[in-house]
Amino acid sequence: MNAEILNADEIKKVAPVFGQLSFDEHEQVVFCYDKDTGLKAIIGIHNTVLGPALGGTRMWNYSSEWEALNDVLRLSRGMTFKSSISGLDLGGGKAVIIGDAKTQKSPELMRRFGKFVDSLSGKYITAEDVGMQTEDMDTVREVTKYVTGISEHLGGSGNPSPVTGYGVYMGMKAAAKYKFGTDKLEGKKVLVQGIGNVGETVVKHIREEGGEVFISDINQERLEAVQQKYGAKIYTGSDLYTADVDIYAPCALGATVNDETIGKLKAQVIAGAANNQLENEAKHGKLLQEKGIVYAPDFLINAGGVINVYAELKGYNRQETMAKTENIYNTTLEILNKAEESKMTTHQAALKIAQERIEKKKQEK
Ligand code: NAD
Repeated sequence: MNAEILNADEIKKVAPVFGQLSFDEHEQVVFCYDKDTGLKAIIGIHNTVLGPALGGTRMWNYSSEWEALNDVLRLSRGMTFKSSISGLDLGGGKAVIIGDAKTQKSPELMRRFGKFVDSLSGKYITAEDVGMQTEDMDTVREVTKYVTGISEHLGGSGNPSPVTGYGVYMGMKAAAKYKFGTDKLEGKKVLVQGIGNVGETVVKHIREEGGEVFISDINQERLEAVQQKYGAKIYTGSDLYTADVDIYAPCALGATVNDETIGKLKAQVIAGAANNQLENEAKHGKLLQEKGIVYAPDFLINAGGVINVYAELKGYNRQETMAKTENIYNTTLEILNKAEESKMTTHQAALKIAQERIEKKKQEK
């Protein structure tokens, strides 16, 4: 151990967890460290009123520990509202592991992380997120039962991403119905940013319906593979946000809807998988509303994955899971209409419904 001891003035300069910008009444934040495996992880438990806090583990090469903390605070809060609006008896949690998933992930590291999850006795249940694969969840399963999204041969439901992708597609169709008067995507131009696990499924569904899909990714190999497999077009313009499309589907990372991008967007609908798409929920939700761009709230339409892993906890039934995910279409339309009636942004309207369910449960307890 070689931690520096700060003097009283230096301590005053360090923002405590409760003072973090993204701190929002989180119940518990757990810092996990293991010297032998090099594990540095943070588990964020935002709210457990509706049930145990479930949310994936993200492994990312964060530029600083503050960035990792900020991410886990934002992501775990998002899970609370995602599960609530989806009618699941789950709270919101998330974990981040600091490091490069390609070079720093090892079975020992995943097992050590699993032991930290286990020490929370089920208050937090993990799953996969960016930088994780089903096999990693299988490794975690060796040391704790508080993990979902494990392989089918081990009795799990496998990779949740195709289900998430299907839900995003349902939400996109509902938003199209609201904005264009029809939910048919045939002939519509859609830009999918990030064609990983979820993005690829979104591309597949839109192409099957005859939509024109433009794809963008930092991974050239994937771009070529998805182009060939589904007949998508690789976006070649210099600025993605000025693309002449009807729908923009952010399926890579968050905060792409911001001061800089909103002014450029030609798309009339935003519907994608990425978490926390609005850099600033209140400000950017309002700006989109003023511009007449319909925003399908991310935490509502990307809930297919959590619906899927929740089903795993209850005894997996694929048909029921897909039907629940398909219902994202109805919920999205309902919320878009509600937002219009109450003159709220779509994000605020979705948040309000999610918060009301939690509040009601709290009163009953
Ligand atoms: P993934 O890691 O499989 O795919 C992400 C893709 O985005 C990769 O192909 C990557 O190369 C690409 N990418 C990264 N930065 C980019 C950039 N700046 N521009 C363009 N492309 C970029 O992840 P995923 O599982 O497909 O998840 C995508 C998003 O959806 C994430 O934000 C994730 O948190 C969210 N999400 C995923 C699930 C799920 O079930 N997997 C559920 C809910 C939300």
